[in-house]
Amino acid sequence: MAFSLPALPYASDALEPHIDKETMEIHHGKHHQTYVDKLNDAVSGTDAESLSIEDIIKNISKYPAAVRNNGGGHYNHSLFWTILSPDAETTPSGALASAIDETFGSFGELKKKLQEAGATRFGSGWAWLVVDSAGKLQVTSTPNQDSPLMDIAEIKGTPILGIDVWEHAYYLKYQNKRPSYLEEIFNVICWKSVGERYAEAKK
Ligand code: MN
Repeated sequence: MAFSLPALPYASDALEPHIDKETMEIHHGKHHQTYVDKLNDAVSGTDAESLSIEDIIKNISKYPAAVRNNGGGHYNHSLFWTILSPDAETTPSGALASAIDETFGSFGELKKKLQEAGATRFGSGWAWLVVDSAGKLQVTSTPNQDSPLMDIAEIKGTPILGIDVWEHAYYLKYQNKRPSYLEEIFNVICWKSVGERYAEAKK
């Protein structure tokens, strides 16, 4: 198989009480696994089998909807697990902190913008912090499993933080209260990890 499910970098109950164990198990073990399986089916026997997921995502306009949806799902979730942590550094530091202050005024303002992007995304999708082609930070959101890394994205950039706002990410614990989830998740967003992605994107 070309693609495989990455292991969670922590136990499934490690993000409690903010994200519950059952949600993590279903989200990672069932939803993400299904994106991987369907992506493998969709690329089977094609040249895409030997490409990295990033290379596929960057040129997604060349591929059918099954690759866009499931490849996006695989790429987005692979990023998502790594920017969460049970012992998260819950505020940015270093170069990322400076860029956030310069671009948004303060970390608090960035948090508000991310929460707003997530809360106002109609239906299913993601809220993002990206580094655009000019090296600047931007907050954006995408529908479904689209990514700002896709060539078809309205606002393009390298995602350094993604917040999943599909109901499957929060419904068991938060039901219809997406804004509550968008508040709680900030307790487990690992800004050290986001900072490392920022440094990489700026290279
Ligand atoms: Mn998800």
